[in-house]
Amino acid sequence: MTEPRQITIFDTTLRDGEQSPGASMNIPEKIEVAQALVDLGVDVIEAGFPISSPGDFEAVRKVAKHVRGAVVCGLARCAEKDIDRAWEALKHAAQSRIHVFLATSAIHREFKLKMDKEEIIRRAVAGVERAAGYCDDVEFSPEDAARTEIDFLCEVVEAAIAAGATTVNIPDTVGYATPNHFSSVIQNLRQRVPNIDKAVISVHCHNDLGLAVANSLAAVEQGAGQIECTINGIGERAGNCSLEEVVMALRTRKDFYQADTKVNTRRLVPTSRLVSNITGIQVQRNKAIVGRNAFAHEAGIHQDGMLKERTTYEIMRPEDVGFSKTDLVLGKHSGRAALADRAKALGYHLTGGQLQTVFDDFKALADKKKEVYDADIAALIEQQIREVPELWALESYRVACGTGATPNVSLTLSRGEEKFTEEMSCGDGPVDAIFLAIERITGIVVRCRDFQVHSVTVGKDAQGEVNVEVEHEGRLVRGRGVSTDSVEASGKAFLDAINRISMLTEGRGQ
Ligand SMILES: [Zn+2]
Repeated sequence: MTEPRQITIFDTTLRDGEQSPGASMNIPEKIEVAQALVDLGVDVIEAGFPISSPGDFEAVRKVAKHVRGAVVCGLARCAEKDIDRAWEALKHAAQSRIHVFLATSAIHREFKLKMDKEEIIRRAVAGVERAAGYCDDVEFSPEDAARTEIDFLCEVVEAAIAAGATTVNIPDTVGYATPNHFSSVIQNLRQRVPNIDKAVISVHCHNDLGLAVANSLAAVEQGAGQIECTINGIGERAGNCSLEEVVMALRTRKDFYQADTKVNTRRLVPTSRLVSNITGIQVQRNKAIVGRNAFAHEAGIHQDGMLKERTTYEIMRPEDVGFSKTDLVLGKHSGRAALADRAKALGYHLTGGQLQTVFDDFKALADKKKEVYDADIAALIEQQIREVPELWALESYRVACGTGATPNVSLTLSRGEEKFTEEMSCGDGPVDAIFLAIERITGIVVRCRDFQVHSVTVGKDAQGEVNVEVEHEGRLVRGRGVSTDSVEASGKAFLDAINRISMLTEGRGQ
């Protein structure tokens, strides 16, 4: 057997993934995810689109500066100021890549860009050359490649490679491709572009038809050397190619693809949970690889087969993707070292100060409930890394309510040293009353679009986790709160969303 070909894993959770409605992450959260991606073993991290906003710029700059162990990439249009700004954000990275893109399909040329083919090639070449002046590692993407006429696509790709692109990425921007079609696009490029061996062929597939992973694998069969993907497949609309699925397909079917990645697959589940916790986007139960039911065998005949020989029904082992056999339990008497150890295993990187705060919270929680599970610890840590200092915090609340009566709420928030109390009779339930009181104090009025409560772990004493999605001036913002009291968790979640809005409106990054 020949050595398997190494496929580069280019993760775009922080850029394309963050474009999922409501998935926006703040800078500490992005750094946390970037560090988890390094632990996972991805090759390239696309950290953002620096010119798109000051917050995106800052996030890319911070990731470039602080995260080591992967190439850090920034996105730019084929325009001088975009590329200059991208480099400004990336220049402190140990290894950096500038990713320039320009749409090439007829529909984009005509309606979006209003440019003819010659103009597109001229701009693409100028963009790649400018990026190559800053850095050796340059990726070029002809946006909407899957709907671009193949002759023109070959022409653009050849020109981009000649201008210095080291990776040419073929995006299926609108999720239009099917496996055989996409395979023939890659095959055509391999056969018809004379300098194609001077660059790595990459693919970037969207999941509008549920084919992003299948299309990416079809491209690998034709020689593509890089896959762009996101954790849990998050991204615009139906999302991107899911990292965990494409990586496990290559690993499980190495016999067929003769290809593999550097990913440490045992980090897949912890990384999936981290991204889900941070973005508030839950993973469906039957999601391949990382869903809660991905390895659950219910049918009796399957269980019987499994007991005799697990490979009768199992093509992968749950522990290989990072499901732990036993949910380790900590309790009242567990020490700081045990907590630090669990935090690390769950994929978090805590500073000494953060560890101390989480440890204090853990002790308080262990007083309230006997057994503290991994999910509880993750919830406590999330609160720490999401914390937004100097903004609103929930000090206390009291609600009196009952059937047929308007709730009476008394709620105190603090902002820095100041405290604000509101007493009012409002709403049609305790949660509604608290939301209204928070709006009254902070002066930020939103529309609640989604509200979900679920328990973090098992048992009556489990912590309740609340996720809210609110709309403010046309923008969707998520908030999350955890407490053993689910009404308090609701208040915290709502306040978390309000704090994010304050940060946006007060211009403190994103
Ligand atoms: Zn995309």
